[in-house]
Amino acid sequence: MDLKDKLEPININEEFVKQCVRKTISDLGGCDCDICFANACALALNELHPKYVTSQKGALLTEITSTKVTNHADITVEATKAVMKVMKNPLH
Ligand SMILES: [Zn+2]
Repeated sequence: MDLKDKLEPININEEFVKQCVRKTISDLGGCDCDICFANACALALNELHPKYVTSQKGALLTEITSTKVTNHADITVEATKAVMKVMKNPLH
């Protein structure tokens, strides 16, 4: 079996949160190191329900996310809150 055709479950909310957190960090001028990025993603994801889809490994996640994520506004709000929290208390 070709590895690139392998299907795997992907939490598209997680993908969208990552995109939102990246953008929010740059909009707000926050620290964009891996630690702050990961912490903000974790904080935001804890406030949101996961939404899994089955996708081919290596598929274009940005395309999948933009069409399948339905709660854009909720995710944007949680990403913003998480980034602001991390900016106040960076863990490094
Ligand atoms: Zn940092």
